Amino acid sequence: MRNITPCTSTTITFDLSRQIIDQLPNGVLLDCSDLNISINPRQFPLLQSPAKEALRRAIANRGQRMIVNSGYRSCVQQFLLRTWFEQGRCGIPAAALPGRSNHESGLALDIQDPRGWDRFMIPQGWRPLPGDPPHFDYVGRGTRILGSEGVLAFQRLWNRFNSSDQIDEDGVYGPQTGSRMRMSPSEGFGIVAPGQLPILRLTTPLTNNGDVRRVQQRLFELGFLSGANSVDSFFGPTTEAAVREFQRERGLSVDGIVGQQTYEALGLDPRGTTEESGSTTVTILEDPTTPEVILDGERRGRVNSNTTSTLQLRSAANTGSRILASLSPGTDLLVKAGLSGGDYDANGSTRNDWYRAEASGQDGFVAAFFVDLLPLTGRVNSMVQTQLRVRDAASTSGAVISDLSSI
Ligand SMILES: [Zn+2]
Repeated sequence: MRNITPCTSTTITFDLSRQIIDQLPNGVLLDCSDLNISINPRQFPLLQSPAKEALRRAIANRGQRMIVNSGYRSCVQQFLLRTWFEQGRCGIPAAALPGRSNHESGLALDIQDPRGWDRFMIPQGWRPLPGDPPHFDYVGRGTRILGSEGVLAFQRLWNRFNSSDQIDEDGVYGPQTGSRMRMSPSEGFGIVAPGQLPILRLTTPLTNNGDVRRVQQRLFELGFLSGANSVDSFFGPTTEAAVREFQRERGLSVDGIVGQQTYEALGLDPRGTTEESGSTTVTILEDPTTPEVILDGERRGRVNSNTTSTLQLRSAANTGSRILASLSPGTDLLVKAGLSGGDYDANGSTRNDWYRAEASGQDGFVAAFFVDLLPLTGRVNSMVQTQLRVRDAASTSGAVISDLSSI
């Protein structure tokens, strides 16, 4: 993978991995974050259904939270591990070839306190792997192997973005596919177009413009900046420190300067395109600490004043997806479903739910923190000849409490 030094976490390929996961057959991998587990938000808590149910039982039987180090792994994450293993680096005792690990099928977990979990996991079909203490494989029935489908997903993705370098789409991992994995962008395909770079760095006086704001916004979304005032358009020492920390985690050269590589790693087009047209359409994500809302049926909603400028209606429940519309505070929308576990807040410690919503005539997704659900209201309609009776039971024989006019 480009820009990756050995022994960083495989979560560095989070965005590329998500592109691969998006191509897998629908519904085969289930999100397990509703179980009593704790997992890094940049790991994928995905398992096949029988494995998830067996895990649910094991956790219930022990009655304590399970700490998961690693769940689903994409073929490019497996590629990194395998490469480091072959190089004898990073203390990796064993790593299957890409396409061959049970982690790539949503049938394996690496967990903490494995021996404490043995007597709860084994009866449910989860088998510990000798020689690799944290690792368990699910060996029960009703599952399928997804490794070659993941490799196929990568091959298709590569071909779509490399028209002059087509490779076989056969789901088989070999040197041809391996060399392309080595060249792939960890931030995902098609994220950045080449262009003029507004290089950003700490200067005197401080640089103050929309490019700084865009970088701060992204650092905020990724958890490298925090606090309501951290997205202020000024490239100061705090922003520089956040850039350095981001560069360190991504294995880039750590210089505190936002150039081509850092823009790419942030998933930003250096020329500035979809995220901003003028300086007013940036949504500032403030510290979202309100409890999760459980949504029951469709509700009317309204963009609230948590939004400093506008709220983005997006094509998916994550801040990297396409912007369909920018909604000003006070805009009404129809909220159709509540989704928990989006990536709205990357550090996972605060609210990250999204709403599927319709606004400005388009279906999309919005971060729920910026939307107030409106009270359910109704109106007596003109079907009523004179008055509608409010009764004390759902029956026309219920006692009349009051009469309502048609309004
Ligand atoms: Zn493992």
